[in-house]
Amino acid sequence: MKIYINGDFFERENAKISVFDHGLLYGDGIFEGIRIYQGKVFKLREHLERLYKSAKAIMLSLPLNFEEMEKAVLETVKINKKEAGYIRLIITRGNGSLGIDPATCRQATVIIIVDDIQLYPAEYYEKGIKIITASVRRISVDSLDPRIKSLNYLNNILAKLEAQNAGCLEAVMLNKEGFVAECTGDNIFIVKDDCLLTPSGSNGALDGITKNTVMQIAGELGLHANESALTQYDLYTADECFLTGTGAEIIPVIDIDGRTIGNGHPGEITKKLINHFNR
Ligand code: PMP
Repeated sequence: MKIYINGDFFERENAKISVFDHGLLYGDGIFEGIRIYQGKVFKLREHLERLYKSAKAIMLSLPLNFEEMEKAVLETVKINKKEAGYIRLIITRGNGSLGIDPATCRQATVIIIVDDIQLYPAEYYEKGIKIITASVRRISVDSLDPRIKSLNYLNNILAKLEAQNAGCLEAVMLNKEGFVAECTGDNIFIVKDDCLLTPSGSNGALDGITKNTVMQIAGELGLHANESALTQYDLYTADECFLTGTGAEIIPVIDIDGRTIGNGHPGEITKKLINHFNR
């Protein structure tokens, strides 16, 4: 495994950054998780566009421009010779002093890791999964906009712990107003009367690449797909529900907080979307 750090490649055991890096000290940084399918990087431009938006929002100036970043990712994939895998692109504020002041960090750290993908069991896709609603609320857009894909995942991790304590893979997170935002590492969709509904960015959802891909596929299939404010009631009474994410792709949900969704099996529209996504 060859890991890219600031323009150089290192073996796994030598790929190290400073303990003074503000990514470590304060979670001051951003990242992207990207898939490689059949040797090709999936939606790289879309991921990089989101990365540069995250950087802009936190006033992090990147040492590479868009084309250079694209080249660095593709070069790291090539060197690692992966036909199927996962790319973790991380940008931290860089090395600084022990205080939080970002101005003490002279240059951002760019890290690119290409690894195998940890796939979920096929059963999740065939039978669907049960999820719960977390008691922890998604950080509100006026505190730290969830559209910023930052290295601060403690909010999500607290909700993930609740999911795990309940024996579930995922948990729904509500925003401060009580509307559905997203899951801890996935976006959420429901199907109601043949229409796809999913929370918007201002509801507290990440602008998911898989979410956008599903919206696009829905359009191609002639289905209506809209962003909408959703409550727990909307989830419980949905005809179908599924989660989307780079790692998860599309996972059907069959139970939320003990309420059976639809007939308790992955829905027909969900299955159609999975089929199209896998093409
Ligand atoms: N929400 C959160 C909080 C995430 O971390 C992710 C990425 N794992 C997603 C949604 C899904 O986004 P994407 O489809 O771009 O992976």
